[in-house]
Amino acid sequence: VDLGPPGPGEVRVAMEACGICHSDVLAIHGGIPEQPPLILGHETVGRIEATGPGVDLVVGQRVLLAWRNPCGTCRPCRRQGPAFCLRPVHADTAPVDADEAVLARAFGIGGMASHALVHVGQCVPVGDDLDPVPTSIVGCGVMTGYGSVVRTAAVETGDHVAVFGCGGVGTAAVVAASRAGAATVVAIDPDPDQRALAGRLGADLCLDPDDDVATTIRRATDGEGLDVAIEAAGHHDVLALAFRCLGVGGTVVQVGSPRPVDHLPIALPQLFLKRATITASIYGDTEPRVGVPELLDLYRSGELPLDEFVGGTIGLSEVPAWFAAPTSGRRTVVVPD
Ligand SMILES: [Zn+2]
Ligand SMILES: [Zn+2]
Repeated sequence: VDLGPPGPGEVRVAMEACGICHSDVLAIHGGIPEQPPLILGHETVGRIEATGPGVDLVVGQRVLLAWRNPCGTCRPCRRQGPAFCLRPVHADTAPVDADEAVLARAFGIGGMASHALVHVGQCVPVGDDLDPVPTSIVGCGVMTGYGSVVRTAAVETGDHVAVFGCGGVGTAAVVAASRAGAATVVAIDPDPDQRALAGRLGADLCLDPDDDVATTIRRATDGEGLDVAIEAAGHHDVLALAFRCLGVGGTVVQVGSPRPVDHLPIALPQLFLKRATITASIYGDTEPRVGVPELLDLYRSGELPLDEFVGGTIGLSEVPAWFAAPTSGRRTVVVPD
């Protein structure tokens, strides 16, 4: 693959670490906007190796790559804010393969490779003091889960919160809910290790989906039900369960990337009686240049123990074998061979 020389406002980055996100698995089945053939990877940390004209970052700078580089001019940018940008700015220079065919880059990054070529606005500077492996997962999963709680749902002191699905996204949501002062934090996941991790990081109650989740949550909240339910599994059955657990005025936030077949399985009388809100959160409704430094400060202070989110690393050459049998739960992070 030839990335080409960086054009105006573009940089070439040598990858140091790239987390494998749930969306990378969906991407193989056409579940993201960019279609194959494409270069996967969007949780990437690396060092700038070459810069095009008009770039204010220097060669050697460590950066985290983000897909959301707000254009600042589209209607959502102007009205809802940069986190809602419809036309994020990515590099114009496109990668080509040996036959000169243009390849797509997942989320405008394509970071699961030795190098990526991106727009400089996609680069968030990262300190040399940080380990690139745990830092990389802030680039999507952690920012997505954390932001869904503090920005999208705006969880407040005293809220009853449950997180359905505790992989990287959901575990970050548990930490966020706990730090926001939620009265009750419930974590639901089939993996006992993930439940144990959620318990260590602030969940008051950790449930297996096969438990009677709705009844247990109702009891744990004195019959009030949830103020906020975070759906971090990307499955309509999970959304239905999350909705059932809501109390009056509650909000369910769809955070996990849904599959193309997923639909909204909600009984309208329940929506009506609860006056519930059903919403979604992408990338934690966060602008990376604001959110990433905040999260990395929490990592440095020990409040967001990212090392515990990572299950292990694999070399780039091991990526095809990993995708033949993807795992969930703790993040696998790709590193150069
Ligand atoms: Zn925009
Ligand atoms: Zn992702």
